[in-house]
Amino acid sequence: MSGLVLDHLVKRYGPFTAVHDAELTIPHGRFVCLLGPSGCGKTTLLRMIAGLEAPSAGAIRLDGEDITAKPAHQRDFGMVFQSLALFPHLTVGENIAYPLRIRGKSRAEQRAEAERLLALVRLPGAADRPVAKLSGGQRQRVAIARALALSPRLFLLDEPLSALDAKLREAMQIELKQLQQRLGITTIVVTHDQREAMTMADLVVVMSAGRIHQAAPPVEVYRRPADAFVADFIGMTNLLKGKVAGPGRVAVAGGTLAVTDPTPAAGEVVLSVRPEDVAVRVGDDAPNLLPGTVTFLRDLGATVEIRLDVAGQEIVAVTAPQDRPMVQAGDAVHVRFPAEAAVVLAS
Ligand code: ATP
Repeated sequence: MSGLVLDHLVKRYGPFTAVHDAELTIPHGRFVCLLGPSGCGKTTLLRMIAGLEAPSAGAIRLDGEDITAKPAHQRDFGMVFQSLALFPHLTVGENIAYPLRIRGKSRAEQRAEAERLLALVRLPGAADRPVAKLSGGQRQRVAIARALALSPRLFLLDEPLSALDAKLREAMQIELKQLQQRLGITTIVVTHDQREAMTMADLVVVMSAGRIHQAAPPVEVYRRPADAFVADFIGMTNLLKGKVAGPGRVAVAGGTLAVTDPTPAAGEVVLSVRPEDVAVRVGDDAPNLLPGTVTFLRDLGATVEIRLDVAGQEIVAVTAPQDRPMVQAGDAVHVRFPAEAAVVLAS
């Protein structure tokens, strides 16, 4: 099997299990984001892949080779941590060439490679600048260039952009994604920011309390969340508690709705419905209507957001300005969404 395989990986710290039975296959060349709230075990998982933490059980294989017990420095992986760990007293070029120097490369080779990597991270000609005088974004690029210096088999990054301000962070997300696409190197990034994961990843691995809940492309995680935790964490969705009222029918918030997603035979479920799929109607008699009250409305320019109270549950609807219904806070309205818009999740 080529690529990286995590085979039933477990990490325990005394009685506490930080990673439970992680199973994941990452084919070559993918950009993977390990995504989840603080403390969910994503750093621990990354550190096991890096060889910085020994698994309590399970195995890690790379292209069929069992690397579980291989020391970190023999794995040929490039790593960038939140702290960046650059040498402040060295120049940009010396920082990037450091791994090459340790490997005994000549000065000329170090220089040429540093120049090539600086061009790659869009800092050409910066080799002689002191690291101490660089901006946050420039340091980030130097750390990335240094991690790529030995053409690593895997590129591992732990919250690499979290110290940057929002605007620079978004620019760096796009840059990192483009760099990875050019190099085709398998890349694994830890982040707790779902937008960041959705921007960069081909494969989003959503974790909570040490478990992988879903590993799927961003659109699938967004459109078909595996469970209510994933739907909630990815955000931008309405989660409505309901009860199965028959095949393809769910009793929810004062009405009974048709859904095309398969329903269990009976019991409680959660419907995940995107705000953009929710329509707000006045005096409508179409099917799949729920009566509700507008609680808040805001015009964000490109979109209009309407918040509603529907039998005690909050529903958010988002429309284009031209489709905006003429309603205001306090109005009694109907809420509707197409049967195929609801994803039925176990509660
Ligand atoms: P964050 O985003 O806050 O870094 P994370 O998802 O990366 O969170 P981890 O750092 O992997 O989470 O930690 C997972 C859990 O394991 C946490 O509850 C943490 O306290 C615990 N943990 C991590 N390292 C150790 C350790 N060396 N000894 C004991 N517990 C640890």
